[in-house]
Amino acid sequence: MTRAFITGIGGQDGSYLAEQLVAEGVEVHALAHAIEPLPDAPGVELHSGDLTDVDDVRSLLIDLAPDEVYNLAAMSSVARSWEKPDLTAQVNGMAAAALLESALLVQEKLDRPVRFVQASSAEIFGQPDRSPQDESTPVRPLNPYGAAKAYAHLMVEVYRRRGLHAVSAILYNHESPRRPEQFVTRKITSTVASIARGRADVLTLGNLDARRDWGWAPDYVDAMVRAARADQATDYVVATGVAHSVRDFVAAAFAQAGITDWEDLVVVDQEFVRPADPTELVGNATRARRLLGWSPTVGFDEVVQHMVEADLAAG
Ligand code: GDP
Repeated sequence: MTRAFITGIGGQDGSYLAEQLVAEGVEVHALAHAIEPLPDAPGVELHSGDLTDVDDVRSLLIDLAPDEVYNLAAMSSVARSWEKPDLTAQVNGMAAAALLESALLVQEKLDRPVRFVQASSAEIFGQPDRSPQDESTPVRPLNPYGAAKAYAHLMVEVYRRRGLHAVSAILYNHESPRRPEQFVTRKITSTVASIARGRADVLTLGNLDARRDWGWAPDYVDAMVRAARADQATDYVVATGVAHSVRDFVAAAFAQAGITDWEDLVVVDQEFVRPADPTELVGNATRARRLLGWSPTVGFDEVVQHMVEADLAAG
């Protein structure tokens, strides 16, 4: 039986990944962040701890001896990374390096392969010169989140050269009803639902012109599983290849809630405008299509639809 170890089980992707692996019959272990309430993760064996406690996590990994390691734990918000750049570096960067080393130790001790997937991010590209980006786009991050993820991304290559089946999945924005409201998509859909119910008057946002490639989170989790199990270890851009502006997302969400005249319901507040914000991030996932047989199954309009429906239903 395959045994997997997941960090970041409390997040959107961790929950979908655990569900997929449990459904496949994989024995799933996960690190549950000690200071947070235990996540509801049926079929998963939870181990309480903190990824930045390197020695504890290393002993745990050596005890468990997993076949697959998925490093999804992160300070996941770019906006918050400006407030906590040092913690972001520790969790998104250094802890990933330590986990790579732990995985290699397991591999060497047991003399059998360990497959490692790092949840990397389009933010490692910063403000790229070309669109769409692919695996050869220069890594040039612009914010503390991207810089820390870039370090982890580079360390994946370092460990791959040391013989670990280490893969970096360069994930573009991926959404679902499980997305926390600190992300723009969920902030939009939950506020639009509140406006539709007469419980809120306005939607307050930052940069409406930013363009992002928004996909469906369960698709991206599936790409990570495929990458773990592929014959070849390499990096993969995981994206839909289609960019939309924040304004497009707002319009689609209001339309989904049956509101056509929305312009006066949206207020721009400088508080939500970031010191540096990539104008457009859109990915070319040709390699993932070719080598992993992966393609997105849910497009932009359906992502918005699922999220607005869920928020309206939550009432
Ligand atoms: P990110 O791409 O990982 O940073 O995901 P977010 O969902 O946090 O942000 C996506 C884009 O929406 C960025 O370009 C933000 O600048 C933009 N944006 C505009 N208004 C807001 C807002 O009120 N909250 C957030 N989180 N992002 C906003």
